[in-house]
Amino acid sequence: MNSCGECTFCCEVLPFTHEASWADTYNERYKYDIIYPPGRACNKVCSTGCSIHENKPKICKEFNCDYILLELEEKFKPNKCGFLCRFRKGGFTGEDSDEIWIHFKGKEKTPKEFYDANKSAVDEVVDFARQKYGWHLVRIQNEIESYTL
Ligand code: SF4
Ligand code: SF4
Repeated sequence: MNSCGECTFCCEVLPFTHEASWADTYNERYKYDIIYPPGRACNKVCSTGCSIHENKPKICKEFNCDYILLELEEKFKPNKCGFLCRFRKGGFTGEDSDEIWIHFKGKEKTPKEFYDANKSAVDEVVDFARQKYGWHLVRIQNEIESYTL
């Protein structure tokens, strides 16, 4: 069974404060003193993972990426392959538009450039995710823009 281990990728690419506070589903950023804006890792990331692991926001307790949920191969662990895949209920626009999201770090590459540079790995994960979730639009994104497949 896959586990997070030393990975903290989701704590670095899925912000939920400041401009991304819309993603703070349970409105817990103040209660837990979280500072996690787009483009920065969460302020609770530490050398062993999460410094408040025993008592962290519900949104963090609930989250698992597809490496965990779909038991992806070890090479697709986010801290190894450099991207995280997840199924996003509702996508950007509502309940009828579920999407598969691929997140990567940094602004050096545009999402299209990232895809071109990692095409075989992304395609392999996307094919697998589409077999599990059904055909959905795929959104490849960093903190500033996205590219759809
Ligand atoms: S990105 Fe996935 S494997 Fe890594 S810490 Fe988050 S849930 Fe765990
Ligand atoms: S509170 Fe902990 S689990 Fe949640 S994003 Fe921050 S470091 Fe990750």
